Amino acid sequence: MRAGDKTVKIGLVTYTPEKVEGFDLHVYYSKSADGQTHPSAGGMQNDVTCFCDASAIREDPSIAAISKKGPALRKNRRFNLPFDYVCPTNNQYQSKVLEYIKTLNRERIKGVTLNLYHFPEEEFCVCPRCVSLWQQSGLNWTNWRAKTITGFIEEARKMVNGEFAVEMFPDPLLARERFGIDFEQIANFVDYFHVPLSSRDYLTNYWVDLLTRDFVKILKKPVVVELSAEMLSDEKTEALLKTMAYVSRHDLKGLLLLVHDSENARQVCRYAVRNREFRDWLEKFGFEEMSRIVNYWTTLY
Ligand SMILES: [Zn+2]
Repeated sequence: MRAGDKTVKIGLVTYTPEKVEGFDLHVYYSKSADGQTHPSAGGMQNDVTCFCDASAIREDPSIAAISKKGPALRKNRRFNLPFDYVCPTNNQYQSKVLEYIKTLNRERIKGVTLNLYHFPEEEFCVCPRCVSLWQQSGLNWTNWRAKTITGFIEEARKMVNGEFAVEMFPDPLLARERFGIDFEQIANFVDYFHVPLSSRDYLTNYWVDLLTRDFVKILKKPVVVELSAEMLSDEKTEALLKTMAYVSRHDLKGLLLLVHDSENARQVCRYAVRNREFRDWLEKFGFEEMSRIVNYWTTLY
């Protein structure tokens, strides 16, 4: 539960390097899963997609991670993959990512968050290089994959001057065997964990509270939770705000909203500020953190 008088910081995850009033944390997608890379965003947390790169794979399909049931591509419906994955042991591609992180850190950024730095699923990767590295390691399959991913995170950490964080596929139980994400080991290298709980809406929200609770319990570093705020209808905005209220009762470092653009973020603030009924609801049921956030917004919007 809540530790002392720690406050939950409110923040944004954006596609544009633009800060918005009323938010303290700003995460910017500087390298995304389609393969695009952008210049660093000053004063912001720069989010770097590591091994998902649709454009690099189009250029050279042989770099995709491979399994006995085919490559780690969205079009391979033997898996339910949201992105196209490069094999994580591809040295050349790894160096490209690390070099990019190094370049970002030549500027005055807040820090770096790694995203999609892991294996696509348990069956990956069985390319000749991975199989040979695994056999040489003397470790079992799960341990070798976890060690490989933790090793990459350790390397990336060395390039970062500011705050260092990782996102994750939000599976609190099987992340190590599925993706090689070893929360226990990774905690040694990160300042905090960024847990994305994305959805098209939060009309059903018990799972958000459930996963937040699980992650706060198991992760050995502070936790930031991300919710999607790209929806515009009143019903969906209301559901989002109430979900934020419940999530903000947990012991979090921050609560992030993924938005299309800055206007999208301001709309959420304005909706909360003008909705007297919602603010009364926050007061009535003692949502202290969310009340504090909305009161802060009322001074601006
Ligand atoms: Zn491989």
